[in-house]
Amino acid sequence: MEDDPMSDVEDLLDEMESTFSKPKLQPKSQTNCNSSELATEQMSPPNSDLDQLMADIIDDDDLDDATTISAHKPAALSNKQQQPQKKCFPCFLGGSIHARGLSTSSEQRACDQLLCTQCDFKVVSFDDYQWSSDCDYLFFRNNAPDFARLRVKLNKMKGSRAYACQCSWKSIRELTNVSNLIDVKWTCCRH
Ligand SMILES: [Zn+2]
Ligand SMILES: [Zn+2]
Repeated sequence: MEDDPMSDVEDLLDEMESTFSKPKLQPKSQTNCNSSELATEQMSPPNSDLDQLMADIIDDDDLDDATTISAHKPAALSNKQQQPQKKCFPCFLGGSIHARGLSTSSEQRACDQLLCTQCDFKVVSFDDYQWSSDCDYLFFRNNAPDFARLRVKLNKMKGSRAYACQCSWKSIRELTNVSNLIDVKWTCCRH
């Protein structure tokens, strides 16, 4: 009689354990990863239900759609697929005399595939121009990347290259490592 409460608890524990360990029998997605047994056991009941649901949905007809979409993609990107895309390392801005393209440690070029991680816009650049000193954030916000509209604040300047996204702008003459610029969040988004 005295043992009853304890065995009740044990029964309960056993029951919980068996419930928790059940999902492990279904090797679906996240539950596959056994890196931490404990975490998996605690997380698996709600997750596995979800996984199951997701798997069911995917198993049905979404998979067909997904394969059709991905089958079409390579054709559209065939030009770029011929060689693996690379990132500039290091990544440079340059003046108009500096060649544009992929930059490597042996061949330094001014990256022409820059993306701003702050406004999520591509960075445009204009050779032999520099930005007028009265540029402001709102001007770029409203007008970038349209050259015809940006032109009102672009002054002709031999050797300079004017860069801009929708939130930042720079006039560059020398080869400049982007990571040294603290006021722009531009990064090479692959060539
Ligand atoms: Zn680049
Ligand atoms: Zn930006």
